[in-house]
Amino acid sequence: MIASSQSTTLVNTCCSLKPLARDSARRRTSTDRIITKGRYRGRMINRARQKIERAFASSSASSSREEMMKEIKKLKEENEELKRMGVRLDRCDDVDIDDDILPIITEVIPSSSSLKDVLKKAGGLRRDPRRDSDVEWPLPITMVGCPIGDEDKKPFWETRPKNDANELFFADDATAAKKTKNPLKISHVTAELAPLAKVGGLGDVTQGLGRAMKMQGHDVEIILPFYQSLVHGEIFDLKHVMDFDVPKGMKWDGENKVSMMKTSAYSGNIGGCNVILLKPHDEANSNIFKGGKIYGGSYNELDAYLYFSRASLEYLNVSRRNPDVIHVHEWQTCAVPMLYWEEYHGKTNLNKAKIVLTIHNLDNTGECREEEFFATGVNGAKFNVIEKALDERTIGHNPERLCLMKGGVIYSNKVTTVSPTYAKETLNGNGGFMSNILKQNKDKFLGILNGIDYQLWNPALDATLPANFAPGNKMTENKKICKKYLQIGLGLDVDDSKPLIVCISRLVPQKGIHLIERAVTQSEANGNQFVLLGSGHSDGGFKRMANEEFSQVNSKNVRLMITYSDALSRLMYAAADFVLVPSMFEPCGLTQMIAMRYGALPIVRSTGGLADTVIDCDCDSVNGNGFVFHNADNNSLDDCVLRAIKSFKDRKKFASLQERVALVDYGWEASGNMYASLYESL
Ligand code: ADP
Repeated sequence: MIASSQSTTLVNTCCSLKPLARDSARRRTSTDRIITKGRYRGRMINRARQKIERAFASSSASSSREEMMKEIKKLKEENEELKRMGVRLDRCDDVDIDDDILPIITEVIPSSSSLKDVLKKAGGLRRDPRRDSDVEWPLPITMVGCPIGDEDKKPFWETRPKNDANELFFADDATAAKKTKNPLKISHVTAELAPLAKVGGLGDVTQGLGRAMKMQGHDVEIILPFYQSLVHGEIFDLKHVMDFDVPKGMKWDGENKVSMMKTSAYSGNIGGCNVILLKPHDEANSNIFKGGKIYGGSYNELDAYLYFSRASLEYLNVSRRNPDVIHVHEWQTCAVPMLYWEEYHGKTNLNKAKIVLTIHNLDNTGECREEEFFATGVNGAKFNVIEKALDERTIGHNPERLCLMKGGVIYSNKVTTVSPTYAKETLNGNGGFMSNILKQNKDKFLGILNGIDYQLWNPALDATLPANFAPGNKMTENKKICKKYLQIGLGLDVDDSKPLIVCISRLVPQKGIHLIERAVTQSEANGNQFVLLGSGHSDGGFKRMANEEFSQVNSKNVRLMITYSDALSRLMYAAADFVLVPSMFEPCGLTQMIAMRYGALPIVRSTGGLADTVIDCDCDSVNGNGFVFHNADNNSLDDCVLRAIKSFKDRKKFASLQERVALVDYGWEASGNMYASLYESL
């Protein structure tokens, strides 16, 4: 650190810059001890340079100025190099700024008036411990999840800082997104949005796609239920926008009656996306979206999402937003296209929107009786015919039923699903009853691979990690620290030579429960390590195993964490050597892509989006990025895991494989461009 000589000095985390030449005592007091670690990005460097040049112009310290310019040039080159490596260096917590620099920097960058802003413009790995002893190691958790000896404390993964959603605004200008010449107004209607309202991949995708389109210059708004479980303090800039009436049907004394449900719209920002949150006004008399969870709270989901679909259209109508595109997702919002074309288009302020439906998973298609559909205030009989939303399988049953997903397909202008292979699989009959409907509508149906948001999933900046890394920048050393951190925290053997396989998944039959169980028992038997993070309606068997044969007392190699935690998942991706995704079917899958980004090799069953994204290393040594098996039996899994572990044994080769895999590009750019073309084609 420089303390005494005259300097306006940028010191980065990797190399301390030398003090610059001497100057007068007067200048020493004003610009002395201006010390910072961190790389400054282009714009800031330019402004800083102008300021510094002005400051030096009045003195005769030309050698100082030259030296300063040299240092700035060097930093710029380093930034270019890091950008080229795909490392987004927007912020560095380690930045250590002497108080004296603040007035100068804030003067240099008038729009950035706080230290926080300055930090966001700085680069470097966010946390870069030089030695093991710099790391504050966690206290191992006990069976009940608290650190040993301190029951009042949170488990270790919850004590780390969270990623700050506000950072996203500052990261936006760092993307290479091509700006559109034809900005569109896009309104998404969705049940999930990461990070606050996320249960699985749907939340990640609405956030990632929404942000990708926003960065291209489109005007994107995401309409979301105002779930009671959302933490208000984590919604940035939350404001009440308006109250309006939403028609809501119900049976009263044997008669269908429509009453008006007062609804409030709030605006805000969640994870870098502009949101509109809708909430029934009448809190005392309505259960809608109440409870401590997104799904499975204390409300009737079908009734609530039908109300939400109608409320979204009412909001779009009264707000006069008149979007070009309404993009709906999953069965929960399929009533939107149905109601839009029957009740709104041409009859209200909504007169130009076209509708895109994305099917993220055909596991649930939204079964609905005619009278249940009346929750929208519109009689379901209108849709209860073969050409509209009648579920053909129920013909002759009492009662016959609607299928909301079918209605969504029929009434949308375009229908997408989340990978090309899943699109093919569904057309080939693997989509159950919906396969026929999609075949009949195949001209408007296509698969677009999901991406992951590279600013949100970025091991160089991820605040939840004890050590950050990027390809070419401390990947091996700092991944080792993350692994050790997880091993200590979970009470596993602290041993880097043991391959660590993790699985982060909803625990439902789709995800290959029997294969996850097999991997758990085989890992224990073979002396490998395995950590599961998951929850869901098939988690009962795992709960038992977690408390018995794989409890802290009984196993030093396997830990089963039956819970949901974003922070723990991030730490696990960073710590892992391998991430297992043995799905029976997988529309896209994001975990294998996140794994790669965090330098872990995916081990996957070849189905849907997993087949589109993972190439077996033993079949293709140049492009291989994981390990793939085909059949859903134990032997196929065991063989594949064995091959993966074999690759791990040659640590040098494995480290370079990790570096290469972390550079594979599954960001939103390519898929975002495909969605942009789709929107423009409507
Ligand atoms: P799906 O949408 O079918 O659940 P995806 O692979 O598309 O599967 O997306 C799963 C997302 O949810 C990933 O971001 C993954 O990290 C996350 N996730 C799944 N289970 C958990 C959990 N128990 N805790 C934290 N995150 C989880």
